[in-house]
Amino acid sequence: MVPELTDSQTPQHEAIIIGAGVCGIYQLYRLLQQGIDVRVLEAANGPGGTWYHNRYPGARFDSESYTYGYSFSRELLDEWTWSEHFAGQPETLRYLNHVVDKFDLRRHMRFGCKVKAAVFDDAACRWTLELEDGSRLTSRLLLTAIGLLSAPTMPRIEGIDRFKGESFHTYYWPQEPVALEGKRVAVIGTGATGVQVISEIADKVADLTVFQRRPNWCAPLHNSPIDEQTQARIKASYDEIFDRCRQTPGGFIHGPDRRKFADVPVRERLAFWEQLYASPGFGVWIGNFRDALVDQQVNAEYTGFIADKIRQRVDDPEIAEKLIPKDHGFGTRRVPLETHYYEAYNRDNVHLVDINETPIEGVTPTGIRTSERDHEFDLIIYATGFDAVTGAFDRIDITGSGGRKLSNKWHDGPITYLGLQVAGFPNLITLAGPQSGSVLSNFPRGIEEVVDWSTNLVRHMRERGYSRVEPTREAEEKWTQHVKETYKLSLLPTAKSWFTGYNSNLEGHDTLRYMIYNGGAPRYRERLAEVVDSNYEGFLFQ
Ligand code: NAP
Repeated sequence: MVPELTDSQTPQHEAIIIGAGVCGIYQLYRLLQQGIDVRVLEAANGPGGTWYHNRYPGARFDSESYTYGYSFSRELLDEWTWSEHFAGQPETLRYLNHVVDKFDLRRHMRFGCKVKAAVFDDAACRWTLELEDGSRLTSRLLLTAIGLLSAPTMPRIEGIDRFKGESFHTYYWPQEPVALEGKRVAVIGTGATGVQVISEIADKVADLTVFQRRPNWCAPLHNSPIDEQTQARIKASYDEIFDRCRQTPGGFIHGPDRRKFADVPVRERLAFWEQLYASPGFGVWIGNFRDALVDQQVNAEYTGFIADKIRQRVDDPEIAEKLIPKDHGFGTRRVPLETHYYEAYNRDNVHLVDINETPIEGVTPTGIRTSERDHEFDLIIYATGFDAVTGAFDRIDITGSGGRKLSNKWHDGPITYLGLQVAGFPNLITLAGPQSGSVLSNFPRGIEEVVDWSTNLVRHMRERGYSRVEPTREAEEKWTQHVKETYKLSLLPTAKSWFTGYNSNLEGHDTLRYMIYNGGAPRYRERLAEVVDSNYEGFLFQ
């Protein structure tokens, strides 16, 4: 618990941003432009957030690189050259470091400092932050840019610590190279991360065993280098690219086809689906007929089409059936994009263990024991996902006005206003927080919206001399109710995934949680604008 009083030695700032990832970097840039005294606190030893941590083999974009960069600086757009349509993690991390240095942001960032607790002091109207090293800082405003997928979760398997070989969660992949050649490797988890790792290492290791609980619907990424001509075209058309992203529900260049499935003759439908499957990126997921993620029957048709693709790509029919999801329709969970993922299972050195048939009983000093037998490994890779969206908040002891804990308030799921503020937690701005429009979007596109909006909120407060902002409980209830309503707009809630708040490795995360705003980026943007136009309806200023 942080003592309420801080002494005169405690550094005092007007704003503190927690996190130096994609969102924190841009928020820092914007607040500095306003001449605000602001610091970024970052637990890692460098900027980059998700791209700093996820160094596992195969980590790369599945948004087109040129839709992922920041859009705010023409100079930056012109000078940065993406080498591939879907850039790998090292390149993205280089890009983010380049941005930090280009705009001279590094000196406003403190690395290696983990925020342990944040307490709002009602009398002083300030947040006091305690870092893990015991030091403190205070600030008027606290902006969280702590990531959606930054609190990794390990499986609850007996004996994990007993393993004598190497083992990591993908999020904690070491900075120094990990030798894979000649190794017997296990991967647990087949989400977007596991699928990237498996595809990348299958031909590099001696032996790879994948422990799969529920398969996902994966589809080809179709990555390729960007040639010079294309590069020139991209650079000349950034305005159009970002315009297009602004129009689509997810902020990607892919948006739904305006036609409905039933309006299109059967042969044309199939030709269209073949074309989607052969095209790069998320078109295969979100570029489909507009009712493909809404109408159960249409979804079932498309799901059948994709299942056949898997059957065509996997030589052994029994393995193919194991890789085909039976519990959810295509696109109702996040679709992992892959490069030769299914072909990996045609290799002699790759083995699939369906842990529904032969459950994992424990980790032993030499490997993994299933109900069938002992498997020996040199390396175990846990690609087991995250305490998504709210997990990073729960890892900081956040106490609001009157001693109320955020973790208590959100115990059964988040409650917010616009996904940006929480009643009882004044001056806390939850950038890319739960229920904001950015959770389900092409991340940089989503966060640019909320950062710009939040920056305007801060400007509004400064211009009018306000020192405190907080939403009303009514506004918060109404927004949370609206977020729940948006879950009826698509089939997403029919599947258990991090989108819907499920995580078998966390106590109590076994029912639907309203984590994300499902109304689409354009509608979210409109709502944010309406709030400003109505003189910040739903917010209380002092
Ligand atoms: P995830 O989608 O939550 O997948 C975790 C996997 O681990 C699932 O297959 C899950 O099985 C399995 N698992 C978890 N606990 C287990 C246990 N106790 N025993 C056996 N299996 C277990 O996590 P992720 O793959 O890290 O991906 C999370 C998100 O990160 C993605 O949805 C995506 O948004 C993002 N991501 C983005 C990129 C990119 O942009 N290129 C790349 C990677 C990830 P069940 O399905 O049965 O629960």
